[in-house]
Amino acid sequence: MKKVLSIVIPCYNEQQNIQAFHMETEKYVQQLDVEVEYVFTDDGSKDKTLDLLRDLAETHRNVHYISFSRNFGKESAILAGLQYASGDAVILMDADLQHPPTLIPQMWSHYEEGYDQVTAKRNRNGENYARRKLTNFFYKVANRLVEVTIIDGVGDFRLLSRQAVDAVLKLTEYNRFSKGIFSWIGFHEKILEYENQTRANGVGKWSFTSLFNYAIDGILSFNNKPLRIAIYSGIFITIFGFIYILFTLVNYFLHGIDTPGYFTTISAIILLGGIQLLFLGVIGEYIGRIYYETKHRPHYLIKEKSDKE
Ligand code: UDP
Ligand code: MG
Repeated sequence: MKKVLSIVIPCYNEQQNIQAFHMETEKYVQQLDVEVEYVFTDDGSKDKTLDLLRDLAETHRNVHYISFSRNFGKESAILAGLQYASGDAVILMDADLQHPPTLIPQMWSHYEEGYDQVTAKRNRNGENYARRKLTNFFYKVANRLVEVTIIDGVGDFRLLSRQAVDAVLKLTEYNRFSKGIFSWIGFHEKILEYENQTRANGVGKWSFTSLFNYAIDGILSFNNKPLRIAIYSGIFITIFGFIYILFTLVNYFLHGIDTPGYFTTISAIILLGGIQLLFLGVIGEYIGRIYYETKHRPHYLIKEKSDKE
């Protein structure tokens, strides 16, 4: 019996890309001796994405779709797709052709060699200088702070074996940071490089603030090192404070009082106030996460889905 390859595609307002994506991908999967199923997740699109998916599912019996009741975000769309996919291996792809389907045959052959994760890594050609520098900096900081290793240029475009998919599905956290999850599960991994692609049609959904928030999410959702840093800073500041007090006392006994101290007082208040607020924020973020996790809400709600035979 032929092996089954599932292709999972999260889609949010991708009416301009769906058909092109399907046609383009078909070219490359047909080279393989496998049975292919497509699982499109419509993440609450406001355009004609769902209509197009219905049409596609009608005319191709290996095309399936799930449609959310509203936009739940890419992470939820990926999760739903992985839960729905039944293949021996799953490839995760974006709908906008930024993940070149030309890589599929190569990914599959590495899977057949026995790799559980075949990860595509893009270079950053064509991105502006500031963004490149900033991302670089983020990865440096993040890899210091996070226990799992996150590689620059590695996104969600990857093949996962059934074993790896099942492992990912065992992580049921509400705040999902895929980059971290894929690295956390481990398994035998192969990395493939590819040339950066610009979006085929439509607009990307990343603004500077959303990227910044994503970075904070990434750092906080995988470990408690920021809390450790808070403890260390506390220790450091306390020791410094003691030394300063001692120094002032000794000075007082030797030379008497001569401390106008206005500048020192103000700087200490501002600096300590800032540090306290910062770490209060860090603690707040963790509590916020606990709050969301304890609600046990579903990751998404399904409005409609195609029948699977
Ligand atoms: N996407 C999604 N839900 C969202 C945002 C994006 O399912 O809320 C999908 C989108 O349709 C695309 C993929 O996730 O297939 C990547 O999105 P985008 O191209 O905006 O991100 P980028 O390529 O800039 O990382
Ligand atoms: Mg994109």
